[in-house]
Amino acid sequence: MIQPIKRLGQNFLRDPNTIRKIVDSLEASAGDRVIEIGPGTGALTGLLAERFEDFSAIEVDERAVEYLSTQMPNVRVVLGDVLKINWPEMAEGASGGRISVIGNLPYYITSQILFGLLDAAPHIQEAVIMMQYEVAARLVARPRTKEYGILSVAVQLACTPKLLFPVSKNVFYPKPDVRSAIVRLEFQPQPESMPRAPEAGTPATQVDSKLLRRVIRTAFNQRRKTLRNSLSSVLGEFGKNLPDGLESKRAEELSPQDFVELTLYLQETI
Ligand code: SAM
Repeated sequence: MIQPIKRLGQNFLRDPNTIRKIVDSLEASAGDRVIEIGPGTGALTGLLAERFEDFSAIEVDERAVEYLSTQMPNVRVVLGDVLKINWPEMAEGASGGRISVIGNLPYYITSQILFGLLDAAPHIQEAVIMMQYEVAARLVARPRTKEYGILSVAVQLACTPKLLFPVSKNVFYPKPDVRSAIVRLEFQPQPESMPRAPEAGTPATQVDSKLLRRVIRTAFNQRRKTLRNSLSSVLGEFGKNLPDGLESKRAEELSPQDFVELTLYLQETI
């Protein structure tokens, strides 16, 4: 066994029932490519390798990679930082060109891992991930709630998130300070090409993803203000007023789709 390192978010799962429930949450078929983030001492890894032939895991801690190579010599465990993973490359040659991702995440980088997966959406089939309960609640939050924010909108535009079940602190060693939850993200097959900003003079058909992210961030960064105020700089840049009905609304009142429509409206050339 290895001594857990707090800095790496190492809280190891101990309970066989919870482990089975998490692995059962993957809907991937036996022939699909499955990748585990942060196998640690292999709580989920053994069962995953039994179920999926095309399976590998990415772990940043050399000690854990070494430990797994002796405990599970037939499992492919790659030493590396998940934040540097090129997901489209990982999906090359996978069945349907898409991968399934699973992991009891290191909580200190949950958002970064999530945004990395969202950016690679066309190459991902599903993701079953354990995260802090409060973050899970933000992912699935509906408009007009205090949990609804940038993460909710970004995630709900890229995939369908479901909070499957909470996980008690007591099933980990060491016991974490926070509660956890399992979330499943289901991605729809998408066209490979990234949405592009329209050429001047042509109608906007696809949303400019960079502008969309900027609109969402700017609106939520001052979530107490009305959109007329919070988005004033973006609106000024595009020489536009808000469409009727939006002036006195706040970011939390807009659905994810409303943000797409607002961005398309800004993109439209007059
Ligand atoms: N899967 C194991 C379990 O459930 O018991 C370990 C989960 S533990 C919460 C998170 C794991 O992610 C640790 O093994 C940690 O070393 C690993 N990790 C932390 N940062 C990482 C990174 N940047 N890239 C890859 N793995 C990382």
